[in-house]
Amino acid sequence: MLLPTTALDRVLGDKTAKSFAKNLGLITVADLLQHYPRRYSSRGELTPITNLPVGESVSIVAEVVDARERRTKGRVSHILEVRITDGSGFLSLTFFNQAWRQKNLLPGTRGLFAGKIGEYQGKLQLAHPDYELFLDEVSQFDAKAWADKPIPIYPASASVTTWMIQKALGIVLDTLGTIEDEVPEQLAKKHKLMSLNQALEKIHRPETKTDWSSATKTLSYHEAFLLQANLIARKIANEKSPATIRSGGTNGYLAAFDSALSFKLTKGQQSVGEEISLDLAKSYPMNRLLQGEVGSGKTLVALRAMLAVADTEGQSALLAPTEVLASQHFRSISKSLGEDLAKEIGLTLLTGQLSTADRKKAMLQVVSGASKIVIGTHALFSEKVEFYDLGLVVIDEQHRFGVEQREKLRLKGKLSPHVLTMTATPIPRTLAVTVFGDMAVSSLTELPAGRKEIDSHVVRAGDKNLVSRVWERVAEEVAKGHQVFVVCPKIDESDKDNSGASVDKTTTELRKNPNLASLRIDSLHGRMDQEQKSDIMAKFVNKEIDVLVATTVIEVGVDVPNATVMVILDADNFGISQLHQLRGRVGRGQAKGLCLLLTGAEDGSIALQRIDAVAAESDGFKLSEIDLELRREGDVLGASQSGGRSSLRLLQVIRDAALIQKVRVEVEQLFEADPGLETSPTLRLAIEEMNAVENLSKG
Ligand code: ADP
Ligand code: MG
Repeated sequence: MLLPTTALDRVLGDKTAKSFAKNLGLITVADLLQHYPRRYSSRGELTPITNLPVGESVSIVAEVVDARERRTKGRVSHILEVRITDGSGFLSLTFFNQAWRQKNLLPGTRGLFAGKIGEYQGKLQLAHPDYELFLDEVSQFDAKAWADKPIPIYPASASVTTWMIQKALGIVLDTLGTIEDEVPEQLAKKHKLMSLNQALEKIHRPETKTDWSSATKTLSYHEAFLLQANLIARKIANEKSPATIRSGGTNGYLAAFDSALSFKLTKGQQSVGEEISLDLAKSYPMNRLLQGEVGSGKTLVALRAMLAVADTEGQSALLAPTEVLASQHFRSISKSLGEDLAKEIGLTLLTGQLSTADRKKAMLQVVSGASKIVIGTHALFSEKVEFYDLGLVVIDEQHRFGVEQREKLRLKGKLSPHVLTMTATPIPRTLAVTVFGDMAVSSLTELPAGRKEIDSHVVRAGDKNLVSRVWERVAEEVAKGHQVFVVCPKIDESDKDNSGASVDKTTTELRKNPNLASLRIDSLHGRMDQEQKSDIMAKFVNKEIDVLVATTVIEVGVDVPNATVMVILDADNFGISQLHQLRGRVGRGQAKGLCLLLTGAEDGSIALQRIDAVAAESDGFKLSEIDLELRREGDVLGASQSGGRSSLRLLQVIRDAALIQKVRVEVEQLFEADPGLETSPTLRLAIEEMNAVENLSKG
């Protein structure tokens, strides 16, 4: 939306603007206008006082019962204590040195009271609440309309209350000029949308429930519309930028690889392979997301794409999020290629941990073009690394790479390279378009034949017998010649950012555990230096370690087929996709895998629901749906605030999937008829603005 980007201090004054910025991140008039109410209250509505959460900001509609004053000695010489009730219970309001308030807060007066619930001498109270009294308006208006009139309740903080926001919005709305509408008229008509001015007015200052619900509908539509228009515009821009065609090469690397392959490609691998080779035959850059379970064979698909590019003499870079993973990709890709082919294409590992001499050597391979496939980490972004002819960038685990990093690597090619992004944390196919609408999305939905499902069980911390059984089970598995991962949320006890078991302490304790006597137990975590980490990993791979206690450094890609059991301690500290990802590390060989999820989470908590879901469901796509559902529930309950401001304000990806998809089709049609948006200048401007803001916030 093309809303005024005037700084708030111009409108609200310095002090208020500063406080809005600091507490709510609202900087401009546009930010404030899009700070939508969380919900609406009404004067008639009574929010139960019996259910107030300590430490949280609340708004209560209640009636004053009585007011008492006390005089004391000291700095606070006057305390006013006002009791209010909503019929369900009583709550005290306290004011220090503000005797004058007693004149307003007369018994029987009703009003809205807001503040942070505190506790004093075991009693709940609101100290210095903000309030608005419903005085004699009632007599002048229709009492019912007055009682029902929606009162917006904004996401607020203790120092910027919902009233202050409401007041500020009043000022802004009173002086708001006409806002140009970027939704074409025929669509606005079709969906019976309000004008933007009207919608903003009605969402912030509704007279009736119908007002805000139609305003919300209009603004939600706008949000979906702009989101999709922006994604499609990016897609079109990408299709206009030139790239080198990377198909029809004659070096024969891919053919040699395929004929040496000891297994058959799955159907999914075949069809995604075909999609990718069509992409590589185009004269604009591929921008494809490949999603699939851990172990679904994504890396193999990527490797075949890189070989196709090598067949045309082009280079490929495979980017891994960590050193451990890069090294591991290097090892497993060396193995898949075989010695001869690896040598022929000059397979190279380039990470920050290489010695200076080795790095120089690797960089020389890359700049000379001798290396056709380079595997590395963000070290590949370093200015010093130059490519001879970069044709394809493969990004493993896209969620760990920022857009700007990808952009940097893109710039390493003479023309934009083709980009294939892989992720093992799939999102439901139907939603992919809403989030990755500028990319083509492929999914590998089946696991290679012979892969067995992992057994997963929840072990409640309170069940001491079961917990000690866990360690017996670990010993049994090791006795059978297998290996075990134990995953902890923290590195050591000094880690204040995370809670739960630490690698340090757990390692020490397990070494003392009589069940595990004579087992070789060691640890791995991200704070070790690279050499130590590689050393430990190598020992584990060589079966010199039985039990590896680790943080989530092992989350992605670590491939040790002999590891059959994973014990995850304090599993409630991990998200659904993380747990699913973690357990994908076991059962990769002949024997069935077992994952034990230990947790002290309470009955009925969202954390326990997450863990139960992981134990009950093995399909990553289904889990991703459950994950989004639970996150949404979490948000509604205010338990987990999603940090950072997403571009989605009113929309929720799952709840509004149908709307977003419908709008997607409409926007596609719009662009088909008019790719340059000649007839929709306002929309064009709005998209440009969105991207400008994004570039700015990227820094
Ligand atoms: P991902 O990257 O999706 O986690 P990988 O490509 O690393 O999966 O494959 C996991 C393992 O399965 C590797 O050891 C790989 O060689 C093997 N693999 C891949 N595709 C197949 C297939 N079609 N049949 C049998 N094994 C396969
Ligand atoms: Mg992989």
